[in-house]
Amino acid sequence: MIFNDAQQEIANKIENKKNLSNWRDWKWQLKHSIKSLDQFELLTGIRFDDSERKELKKTFDKFPLSITPYYLSLINTKNFRNDPVFRQAFGGVEELIMSDAELKDPLSEDHDSPVEGITHRYPDRVLFHVSNVCSMYCRHCTRKRKVGDVDFVPTKDQLRKGIDYIRKTPQVRDVLLSGGDPFMLTDQMIDWLLSEISSIEHVEVIRIGTRMPVVLPYRITDDLISILKKYQPLWINTHFNHPREITASSKEAVAMLADGGFPLGNQSVLLADINDCPRIMKTLVHKLVENRVRPYYLYQCDLSEGLSHFRTPIGKGIEIMESLVGHTSGFARPVYVIDAPGGGGKIPVMPNYIISWSTNKVVLRNYEGVITTYQEPDSYEPKMCDRNCEKCSLDLELSEGDESEAIGIEKLLQEQSDTISLVPENNERIQRRDENAG
Ligand SMILES: *Cc1c(COP(=O)(O)O)cnc(C)c1O
Repeated sequence: MIFNDAQQEIANKIENKKNLSNWRDWKWQLKHSIKSLDQFELLTGIRFDDSERKELKKTFDKFPLSITPYYLSLINTKNFRNDPVFRQAFGGVEELIMSDAELKDPLSEDHDSPVEGITHRYPDRVLFHVSNVCSMYCRHCTRKRKVGDVDFVPTKDQLRKGIDYIRKTPQVRDVLLSGGDPFMLTDQMIDWLLSEISSIEHVEVIRIGTRMPVVLPYRITDDLISILKKYQPLWINTHFNHPREITASSKEAVAMLADGGFPLGNQSVLLADINDCPRIMKTLVHKLVENRVRPYYLYQCDLSEGLSHFRTPIGKGIEIMESLVGHTSGFARPVYVIDAPGGGGKIPVMPNYIISWSTNKVVLRNYEGVITTYQEPDSYEPKMCDRNCEKCSLDLELSEGDESEAIGIEKLLQEQSDTISLVPENNERIQRRDENAG
């Protein structure tokens, strides 16, 4: 069991006894999630003065509080105002400040929704909101409008609407389960949901977006892994924002998932006074790949209500990308994206590496500032692709390569083969033969 002093103290206060056997039970953690200011003060020993308490209560009336005892135990109570864990879990009165640019549903997820629970924005994939609850309410949640909606856990009948939509929409080859947190559903429900979706012929991959490894790592149990294993290919994305969130418990959770054979990705949000720093980000991505989690996206913070204090200029994200590209492993580098307000989808942004170009030459710079040129070929026939595939010389046989046909030496060994010898290309002796014959 993993316990530090902070965890010991919190568990003692919750249970009022020395018996800590439940700490790693995810249901115990959920049951004892911290949902009030009083409870927060009691368990952390942090005290706010009366005027701040009044404002905080207003904040939590609008955007409810919920922190797992585990995540609470990561708060640095001595310097909590600057603590990335505290700032993500507890937030502050700044959330009541609404700027004109901010919207309830900045990504128009509710507009692009053909049926309840589904956002169908891109041609070949859908976002399926399978629960409205999370074990922790991140203060920077882009779906703050839904947070705490009477702790909505959908029934099978409600989920069936989404499943039916996917079933009758053959272009959907990728289904992304999100929420809320899909792992808030019971094991039985997850099993049922995955079996329904994976039985749809045109669905090639299922993805799950979950913050459980970060905020409630004990949710990743052996039972859950054995259920998930039945539904490969299954990709799992989690949401670490700061190296401080990588602990023995969270490492164990991601190791269980990686050992289960699920490709793991991470989506971070760029957050002011939390991770808006190239050094923090580089440390985070290094720790992620060390734990077999590939940085997938770095999000510009959305224009959701109450998030202005978390937002940074886009230049900060570009600066961070500048510090990663070339400076570290390619697979440790996320794609920095801005999710277009109004629902245009994710737009990737990068520092500029192309400095200039002419008709046959491109001027580029590298991460060190070296300026270089790339001479384009003179021989390339411009191919204006008009989708006239009949006339195209490219191999458009896109089915999987067939390995059943014998080739090479294997072919020579076949009894019925007409081939008696294999000759390397440009063999001089054979060329001489051909010339003499000619
Ligand atoms: C992010 C998102 C997806 C998945 O996008 P990818 O770039 O494929 O990861 C799908 N649908 C919606 C609505 C999204 O916001």
